[in-house]
Amino acid sequence: MKIIIAGAGAMGSRFGLMLHRANHEVVLVDGWQEHIDAINKNGLQANFNGEKIVENISAYNQNEIAKVDFSADLVILFTKAMQLDSMLQSINSLLHEDTKVLCLLNGIGHEDRIKKYVPYQNIFLGNTMWTSGLQGPGKVKLFGDGSIDLQNLAQGQEQAANTIVEALNQADLNAKYSSNILSSIYKKACVNGSVNGLCTILECNIASLGASSYANTIISQIVDEFIAIASAQNIFLDKDEVLTQIKSSFDPETIGLHYPSMYQDLIDNKRLTEIDYINGVIVRKGKQYQISTPYCNFLTELIHSKEEILGVR
Ligand code: NAD
Repeated sequence: MKIIIAGAGAMGSRFGLMLHRANHEVVLVDGWQEHIDAINKNGLQANFNGEKIVENISAYNQNEIAKVDFSADLVILFTKAMQLDSMLQSINSLLHEDTKVLCLLNGIGHEDRIKKYVPYQNIFLGNTMWTSGLQGPGKVKLFGDGSIDLQNLAQGQEQAANTIVEALNQADLNAKYSSNILSSIYKKACVNGSVNGLCTILECNIASLGASSYANTIISQIVDEFIAIASAQNIFLDKDEVLTQIKSSFDPETIGLHYPSMYQDLIDNKRLTEIDYINGVIVRKGKQYQISTPYCNFLTELIHSKEEILGVR
């Protein structure tokens, strides 16, 4: 399959590398020139479960991709949420009427932006448990296993979704068809929305957040707000299931000692966060459905304040 990875940071590099190793025709598209130059000069260098490997994949700046002759069967979107519109504009001329577009970003509601650029029947949404970390331009660290759930947005595109699943599984990406992707996207966003922003504001790891005597009350309120917004759209979220997953993340034996990606983005790397596409979406949809969302609102405003204080916004 001819595949464009649109957003070749940590996750795009993982997917690009694994798909290329499975003999798919892959190009990486990104906005970070130093990263692109390093990949084109030295190959994409990976620590792949402890083994050092180099994969020679073509990489292009999104500003020059329109000039490239590559007719993609599949585009996998893997920008950060705030970079999505600019990437979709950059790759627009490479999409033909059958190009399928799979969005694997974290967060909620990306389809509302994607459908401005991509015919509805070509949009597929997914949720992934794979992880990845960039170690510098052209260098990526890939450890552990993961999975992907995905589904077509438009009715009648189930076969196309299954073709994407097969292509991903040729690369051992452990994909499966989901009949309820919006529910799993909301569940993951709810878990992230309950932990990431709080750890970032409190500057603590997940175990320390869980050890705070206030955590249960705050998290329960945030989860209630996600559930109310999901249910206004007929999306089911099970509170006990979400709370069980959040509590299991507090355990230092699982990921408790980990600092969430939002913390790493803002505190470690002084980069903008994805808060507007996690808790911020709940606030926007709350206004639309006239549902009060004070905890998500306050958390979103606190993160924006911190972005300003740290000179990132
Ligand atoms: P990323 O930050 O690694 O990359 C996103 C973009 O930022 C890329 O264009 C990348 O080139 C650029 N970038 C990264 N470091 C940079 C630097 N130092 N200077 C300039 N530009 C830089 O993002 P990601 O972790 O691949 O995440 C993509 C999406 O996948 C997000 O929605 C994220 O929430 C989601 N996600 C990430 C993981 C993970 O383990 N990283 C897991 C699941 C989902």
